[in-house]
Amino acid sequence: MKIRQVISIIASKLTIFLLHLLKRGGTTLPGKVAFKLYPDILKSIASNFEIIMVTGTNGKTTTTRIVEEILKNNNVDYITNKSGANLLSGITTLFIQAVSISGKPKHKVALIESDEAAFNQVTKHLTPKAVIVTNFFRDQLDRYGELYSTLNAVKSGLERIGDNTALILNADDSMCASLGIATAKPVIYYGINQQAYQATSENMNSDAMFCIQCKNKYEYSNRIYGHLGGFYCTNCGYKRPDAHLECIEIQEAGSSYSTIKCKCSSTLLQENNEFVTRINLPGLYNIYNAMAAAACGLALGYKVETISNALQSFESGFGRMESINVMDKTIKLILVKNPTGFNQVLSFLALENQSLNTAFLINDNLADGTDISWLWDVDFEQLNNVSDKIDGLITSGVRGEDMAVRLKYSGLDTSKIRIIKDYHMLIEEGLKKTPPGGCFYILPTYTAMLDIRSILKKKFNLKEFWK
Ligand SMILES: [Zn+2]
Repeated sequence: MKIRQVISIIASKLTIFLLHLLKRGGTTLPGKVAFKLYPDILKSIASNFEIIMVTGTNGKTTTTRIVEEILKNNNVDYITNKSGANLLSGITTLFIQAVSISGKPKHKVALIESDEAAFNQVTKHLTPKAVIVTNFFRDQLDRYGELYSTLNAVKSGLERIGDNTALILNADDSMCASLGIATAKPVIYYGINQQAYQATSENMNSDAMFCIQCKNKYEYSNRIYGHLGGFYCTNCGYKRPDAHLECIEIQEAGSSYSTIKCKCSSTLLQENNEFVTRINLPGLYNIYNAMAAAACGLALGYKVETISNALQSFESGFGRMESINVMDKTIKLILVKNPTGFNQVLSFLALENQSLNTAFLINDNLADGTDISWLWDVDFEQLNNVSDKIDGLITSGVRGEDMAVRLKYSGLDTSKIRIIKDYHMLIEEGLKKTPPGGCFYILPTYTAMLDIRSILKKKFNLKEFWK
């Protein structure tokens, strides 16, 4: 038993205890304390866990929660971090809590969501059994070059770990799929088949237009959204790899669920290689999240029934859509943080079979991104296709005025756009306009979400409505 390790664990556990006593949350400090006292702490205590990691730009949290549901359905004893603690120190704190003072693990599996920028650093300490990479999209502040540096950082992180780690990669994302080239690790690709979906709109903001191998412009046999789809390069031949797990049919796409038919290759499943399942989440992006989690579950050897059950029993509560019922109306909160995610939310709203009553809460604090020019990359213009359904659009937050300007320039009827800075008044107005049985959508950036959540909690006397 290493003395430094024991001291580091005790000090860190004591910090957790003190923070708890002071009623202060905080997942960063205990991890930092542990590292300060013993730089090898994480590597040392994590080595006895079976580790599953999830990284990528969009969908990390939802994918992680669906994998968690798969673990639950298999009665696996696991630990997992919350999305707010997906950097090195937060992950260290999680492991400290999950071991005894001598460093003995109290659980079998660790399911870790890792920020994509921190992934390279985290893999210096962790050796996962499987890694899911969801996708690479340009975040609000990134320049195009930064997207490739994120990809390269994840790539070096993967090179650092041994060849026994299974890679679960998105076949439809040319950047994500490229991680499976020239690696000795087992690779499982998942994707949406072109028979299942063909985007009709040509309105694709493409983050990765050029071949990662030779810089030639990609052609597409089908588009899903963003740069996802059946990409191929006519110059060097790099193309979307065949997927081991594919969505081959979207049988139903409701406003809160999808029913999909999946096909598995024989490497993942020996017999009966098609199954139909339901996901209690709307939208194409959640089909990807579900496929990623399912591919990981299959790669780890869990039975297809348990995976299908997990997809069907998964509740979006912790995901990015949160609902609260107020009398006979519903308020739905959906986080928006980058153009691609925002576009998906808008397409989802446009499909809603009811009048649209929506508030946009835009802050520009550090956690939201201080440069709000990304709003100009969001396709608000698509709302013009459903303009007759739009009842009212409210803008708010620190940059509520800028948001109103953005909506105005998208050509929407300005008489329907209002700026209401006071959140109490905003909630009241939004609900007043919502018909019985209807839904008031609130789309906040990160810090605006924290503010509106705490007001909703107090106002309607809720404990934790997002659980
Ligand atoms: Zn090429």
